[in-house]
Amino acid sequence: MNQSLPYHSKISNSTINDLNSINSKVRPSLLKIVNSDFFKFFKLNLFSECPFWDDNNGFCTNRACAVDVIEDDYENLPEYWKPEMLGKINDLNDLDNQPIDAQDELLNQLCNKKFITGNHYSPLNCRDIDYCDVDYITNHPDAVLVDLTNNPERFTGYGGEQSGLIWKSIYSENCFQLEDNDKASLAKEVFFKLISGMHASIAIHLSNDFLDTKTGKWGPNLDLFMFRVGNWTERIENIYFNYAIVGKAIQKILPFLQELEFCSQYDHETLNLLSNVSSDIDSSIFNEHLIFDDELSSEVKDQFRIKFKNVTKIMDCVHCDRCRLWGKVQSTGYATSLKILLEMDNDPMFVVNSLTKYELIALLNTFDRISKSVQLINDFEIMFNEKYNSE
Ligand code: FAD
Repeated sequence: MNQSLPYHSKISNSTINDLNSINSKVRPSLLKIVNSDFFKFFKLNLFSECPFWDDNNGFCTNRACAVDVIEDDYENLPEYWKPEMLGKINDLNDLDNQPIDAQDELLNQLCNKKFITGNHYSPLNCRDIDYCDVDYITNHPDAVLVDLTNNPERFTGYGGEQSGLIWKSIYSENCFQLEDNDKASLAKEVFFKLISGMHASIAIHLSNDFLDTKTGKWGPNLDLFMFRVGNWTERIENIYFNYAIVGKAIQKILPFLQELEFCSQYDHETLNLLSNVSSDIDSSIFNEHLIFDDELSSEVKDQFRIKFKNVTKIMDCVHCDRCRLWGKVQSTGYATSLKILLEMDNDPMFVVNSLTKYELIALLNTFDRISKSVQLINDFEIMFNEKYNSE
């Protein structure tokens, strides 16, 4: 893994080795952050309906179709190994019986975000700058707080025709109608890399935390990793591409997080951890100005924004709760990165103040997911060499 990232030398100067080395520095602080009281919660509506197609038509919804790897043995599986159970969200915080305001209050106690009030003029005022559907997080009466640390991203058995069609719909958002073909193909390429990197990262997590239904043991599955990701250089590169994008967004927003007022000593520690992460990331990790920096930029950006927003909405079509949870967290995290990278230069404080706490939580958790994937790529490489290359 010693090559430089071939995708776009003009977008990033970093090599895979550079990103591996940044990752080993930020990983310990990042891990503490996503386990902290503020960053471990995410709000989710498990009952929102798929807005794009009739959920009960066009998709296979019978039990066997929901099973991929273990479908042959489905009927003989113990109840607790069945995909519906594996994909369930555990321990919905007992806050879920309380009114939504009370749930939010828990996080507000940890983070009193100060909003700029009054007539703050911004050139961004009249434009939508959201790359994700923020309404579902902030306003939905059925949304509940979920403790992410109780619901690790892992193998769930979700698969078959349904998940394949969801991925197909997500990739098909990758179609840009632009007069300038060069701009359309750059936007298309960046969009594809983001989705493919997210898809590959999910595949790494399910390969690492895999249930062997014969032994009943959870653990890494090297062959599955190789089949889904390891044998595909482009997928590995896309993971590093996403690492550079989310890392740069975090590096760019963190100086402004002093705007967050954390009340207890504990949360001052969280702020320190955040600045540790930021200081280990070099700003040259990614050059966002080279993505959409020309006179067509606002048209490209708008199309990009609307399409990415659709990706966050397609997550409501995912039938496995645990997969939907992490799909929402990560698509929201990438959407937040795009908002920071592509909108902040016009008016930093406007963008900072437009961020909801759930976008911030998604951003850090998405960085953690992709950072863990980078670590696991290296772990699986060692495993591979031990198994196949040792004499
Ligand atoms: P899929 O992963 O479904 O892929 C479909 C097709 O896409 C492949 O045949 C290939 O042509 C192409 N493809 C695959 N990977 C890439 C890539 N990186 N880049 C470009 N093209 C690619 N399962 C779990 O066990 N745990 C989870 O947490 C989980 N979360 C999910 C979240 C979402 C949003 C979705 C849609 C699915 C999730 N799944 C999860 C299911 C998982 O992603 C797979 O769909 C499932 O394991 C079946 O895999 P598959 O081999 O059939 O191919």
